[in-house]
Amino acid sequence: MCFTPDMVDFTRTAASPPVGTSELFQILRDGVPRTRAELAALTGLARSTIAVRLDALIDVGLVGPVETAASTGGRPPAQVALVPRARLVIAADLGASHGRVAVTDLVAASLATREARIDIAAGPVPTLTWLVETIDDLLAEVGRTRDDVVAIGIGVPGPVEFSTGRPANPPIMPGWDGFDVPGWLRGHVAAHVLLDNDVNIAALGEREHGWPGVDHLLFVKVATGIGSGIVSDGQLRRGAQGTAGDIGHVRVSRAGDVPCHCGNTGCLEAVASGPAIARALRAKGHDVHTSGDVIDLVNRSELDAIGAVRQAGRDIGEVLATCVSLVNPSVITLGGSITRAGEHLLAGVREVVYSRSMPLATEHLVIAQSRAGSVAALQGAAALAIGYALSPAGVDQLVAPAEGRALVS
Ligand SMILES: [Zn+2]
Repeated sequence: MCFTPDMVDFTRTAASPPVGTSELFQILRDGVPRTRAELAALTGLARSTIAVRLDALIDVGLVGPVETAASTGGRPPAQVALVPRARLVIAADLGASHGRVAVTDLVAASLATREARIDIAAGPVPTLTWLVETIDDLLAEVGRTRDDVVAIGIGVPGPVEFSTGRPANPPIMPGWDGFDVPGWLRGHVAAHVLLDNDVNIAALGEREHGWPGVDHLLFVKVATGIGSGIVSDGQLRRGAQGTAGDIGHVRVSRAGDVPCHCGNTGCLEAVASGPAIARALRAKGHDVHTSGDVIDLVNRSELDAIGAVRQAGRDIGEVLATCVSLVNPSVITLGGSITRAGEHLLAGVREVVYSRSMPLATEHLVIAQSRAGSVAALQGAAALAIGYALSPAGVDQLVAPAEGRALVS
């Protein structure tokens, strides 16, 4: 967001911080120390204007002076920079049966984490009550309070209407459909809440922490279900209803009339997900029931298991070849429990994507294992929350007085 002098916000009162404070902060959000003179040069604003806006940021602790090493050539010019621990964010990855929560500072350094078995099918109130209790435990552990939390990023295993933070017909989350997650949480923690699908936030985490310079990335999760998150032009693409990247129910040639739990037949998920691979191996006489059993069998070099995983990779590759034509990613990464089968799944994916895509699209295409691994979603949830916390809207919430805060929350 670029600040221009015309951008006067009439909701601000005389007691409000000077207009442009949160916009000035956008220059400092990268954490690089700068002098007042440098900020004046970067913005074209008068030194006196810079001073007033910086004071507002320093008052709330978001920006502070940087200790400069003593030099022999006289006093160095004073620099200011973002104070990473001025406020905190909460990251939460809520799975079907597993919850992870972290409290991080404003540069995504994790200060404390907690993992527990949860049952998301128990409904929103028990799950979110557990989340609030866990947040309190973690804050106590790091000696901070709920007042220090500026944003909460949460991933859930189902579709979400991102703009309202309400799950939308999530198949494995009974009782959550349309539930006002931000509204409920704000009754306990006065922070901005961002709820998203777990694969979307995993894509964000994968990009932020595994491939920071990559603007076109596809993250594919292969576990009980199959889904993907799309980062294009550096932005997460959710689509009109938040279902962009939902590749699990695309038809693949090998699936024929195999029934899928979605009610359709021939879906990718019906032949290439963890349960589908286990089912295929049971049909060959192997005692496998879970993704873990499949991995165990692969690790014991059981040829049927290796073949089944590689074939699942080819099926996924068939769908990904279309995705490559559509969004032209430079990196595709695969995460989720089945990717613990090592290179076999990747080999199948590569085999089909490279042979079915146009050479120009695959000339520099990297297909790799997830770098963020099992914490991709947690890191993405933190990135989502920090993205808000440091945005003009998030900073406004901190520097505006109480009446202004009511207008932006
Ligand atoms: Zn389906």
